[in-house]
Amino acid sequence: MRSTTSFAAVAATGTWTDPDGVRRPAGEVHAWRGGTNQTVCGLSLHRSRLGRFPHVTWDDVQPATGAHADEVARVCPRCAAGMGRRRDERPWVRTRPRP
Ligand SMILES: [Zn+2]
Repeated sequence: MRSTTSFAAVAATGTWTDPDGVRRPAGEVHAWRGGTNQTVCGLSLHRSRLGRFPHVTWDDVQPATGAHADEVARVCPRCAAGMGRRRDERPWVRTRPRP
Protein backbone atom coordinates (compact mmCIF):
# COMPACT_ATOMS: atom_id res chain seq x y z
CA MET A 1 0.00 0.00 0.00
CA ARG A 2 1.24 3.39 -0.92
CA SER A 3 0.05 6.75 0.23
CA THR A 4 0.45 9.93 -1.69
CA THR A 5 -0.35 12.14 1.27
CA SER A 6 0.06 11.99 5.01
CA PHE A 7 -3.13 13.94 5.56
CA ALA A 8 -6.15 12.15 6.91
CA ALA A 9 -9.46 13.13 8.38
CA VAL A 10 -11.26 11.21 11.11
CA ALA A 11 -14.00 8.62 11.42
CA ALA A 12 -15.35 7.87 14.90
CA THR A 13 -17.85 5.73 16.76
CA GLY A 14 -19.34 8.70 18.56
CA THR A 15 -19.92 12.38 18.21
CA TRP A 16 -20.45 15.45 20.31
CA THR A 17 -20.92 19.10 19.58
CA ASP A 18 -18.43 21.57 20.92
CA PRO A 19 -19.38 25.00 22.35
CA ASP A 20 -18.95 26.53 18.91
CA GLY A 21 -21.56 24.17 17.49
CA VAL A 22 -19.06 22.08 15.55
CA ARG A 23 -19.37 18.32 15.43
CA ARG A 24 -16.36 16.59 16.99
CA PRO A 25 -15.43 12.93 17.16
CA ALA A 26 -15.87 10.86 20.33
CA GLY A 27 -15.29 7.29 21.37
CA GLU A 28 -12.97 5.31 19.16
CA VAL A 29 -11.36 7.23 16.36
CA HIS A 30 -9.93 5.99 13.08
CA ALA A 31 -8.00 7.72 10.36
CA TRP A 32 -10.02 8.28 7.22
CA ARG A 33 -9.01 9.67 3.89
CA GLY A 34 -11.71 11.72 2.25
CA GLY A 35 -13.23 10.17 -0.83
CA THR A 36 -12.89 6.62 0.41
CA ASN A 37 -15.53 4.62 2.23
CA GLN A 38 -13.21 2.85 4.59
CA THR A 39 -10.75 3.73 7.29
CA VAL A 40 -6.98 3.47 6.97
CA CYS A 41 -7.12 0.17 8.87
CA GLY A 42 -9.70 -1.16 6.43
CA LEU A 43 -13.00 -0.90 8.30
CA SER A 44 -16.10 -0.12 6.30
CA LEU A 45 -17.51 3.20 7.50
CA HIS A 46 -21.00 2.01 6.85
CA ARG A 47 -20.75 -1.45 8.35
CA SER A 48 -18.94 -0.22 11.43
CA ARG A 49 -21.33 2.73 11.79
CA LEU A 50 -18.55 5.24 11.91
CA GLY A 51 -19.30 8.92 11.57
CA ARG A 52 -17.22 10.97 9.17
CA PHE A 53 -15.46 14.12 10.25
CA PRO A 54 -13.94 15.62 7.13
CA HIS A 55 -13.31 18.89 9.01
CA VAL A 56 -11.27 17.22 11.76
CA THR A 57 -7.75 16.05 11.07
CA TRP A 58 -6.05 12.97 12.43
CA ASP A 59 -3.60 15.22 14.28
CA ASP A 60 -6.50 16.94 16.05
CA VAL A 61 -7.61 13.77 17.80
CA GLN A 62 -4.29 12.56 19.15
CA PRO A 63 -4.73 12.60 22.94
CA ALA A 64 -1.21 13.86 23.57
CA THR A 65 -1.19 16.76 21.14
CA GLY A 66 -4.55 17.19 19.44
CA ALA A 67 -6.86 20.15 19.93
CA HIS A 68 -10.06 18.10 19.66
CA ALA A 69 -9.24 14.94 21.55
CA ASP A 70 -11.27 15.69 24.70
CA GLU A 71 -13.91 13.05 24.06
CA VAL A 72 -11.67 10.53 22.37
CA ALA A 73 -11.62 7.29 24.32
CA ARG A 74 -9.42 5.23 22.07
CA VAL A 75 -7.23 5.76 19.06
CA CYS A 76 -7.24 2.82 16.69
CA PRO A 77 -3.73 1.35 16.90
CA ARG A 78 -3.82 0.06 13.35
CA CYS A 79 -4.71 3.46 11.97
CA ALA A 80 -2.05 5.01 14.17
CA ALA A 81 0.49 2.59 12.75
CA GLY A 82 -0.68 3.38 9.26
CA MET A 83 -0.44 7.12 9.82
CA GLY A 84 2.22 7.47 12.45
CA ARG A 85 5.52 7.33 10.76
CA ARG A 86 5.80 10.72 9.27
CA ARG A 87 7.22 12.75 12.15
CA ASP A 88 9.96 10.35 13.08
CA GLU A 89 10.89 9.25 9.64
CA ARG A 90 13.14 11.49 7.65
CA PRO A 91 12.94 10.87 3.96
CA TRP A 92 16.23 12.61 3.31
CA VAL A 93 19.10 12.69 5.75
CA ARG A 94 22.45 14.11 4.87
CA THR A 95 24.87 11.70 6.47
CA ARG A 96 27.87 12.08 4.23
CA PRO A 97 30.61 13.65 6.31
CA ARG A 98 32.61 16.49 4.89
CA PRO A 99 36.19 15.61 4.07
ZN1 LIG B 1 -8.66 2.10 12.46
